[in-house]
Amino acid sequence: MWKGLRIAVLLVVLAIVAGRAWYDRHASTSWSAPLWVGIFPVDGDGSDVTARYLASLTPASFASIGEFFDREGVRYALRLEHPVRILLYPPVPTRPPALERGSGPLATILWSLRLRVYAWRAARVVAGPAPAVRIFVLYHDPSRTPTQPHSLGLEKGLIGVVYAFASRAMQGGNAIVVTHELLHTLGATDEYDPQTLQPRFPEGYAEPNREPRFPQPFAEIMAGRRALSADSAQMPDSLDEVVVGPATAREIRWRDR
Ligand SMILES: [Zn+2]
Repeated sequence: MWKGLRIAVLLVVLAIVAGRAWYDRHASTSWSAPLWVGIFPVDGDGSDVTARYLASLTPASFASIGEFFDREGVRYALRLEHPVRILLYPPVPTRPPALERGSGPLATILWSLRLRVYAWRAARVVAGPAPAVRIFVLYHDPSRTPTQPHSLGLEKGLIGVVYAFASRAMQGGNAIVVTHELLHTLGATDEYDPQTLQPRFPEGYAEPNREPRFPQPFAEIMAGRRALSADSAQMPDSLDEVVVGPATAREIRWRDR
């Protein structure tokens, strides 16, 4: 009987979370007012390099993200001057719960609930309403961690976890990953082939009708790279070389068709 009760309680919690997530997600892509996005830096490795880098972060470190949405919003005739407002929060002293590789569905559900609790606690440290979207950016010293695990954006829950490099030279690349995961939380899907990492044609191309097709001058944000040829692609250095393509614009409700 107790087991049945426990499962019933878990199901009720999940139903509430799912309903709330649906509402939040719908409200977050109405684009009738600026979407508030909180950036929460986290020390990912406890190194001196990372600690120094965290102390050096200012709102200007993330300004390119807001500018990207301003510019792309104009291309889609959005009526908002600033579709997204970025708020920098103080560093969070604990790391978000990690999802073990190869976790089953139940473990994944429990992890997503723990991540929600973590995100709720982190936003509570500052007075005022919590931001609509919370992105946790885990910084690592690039000389210790040359490759990062996959960042993720929880579509149902408006929470993202981004692995980033504690290096000013990589700030442009970090901003691209933050923006990509932010768009995942708003319902955008990947526009690249998971096997080859090549942008998918035509959705993952900034200019699919361009003649000649290669090289593409810009990258589509959910493709992550710009195609140089049918089987090679390059990571852009900053959001200046990235656009929101029509398929992504549709998914985040910037256009109807
Ligand atoms: Zn992605």
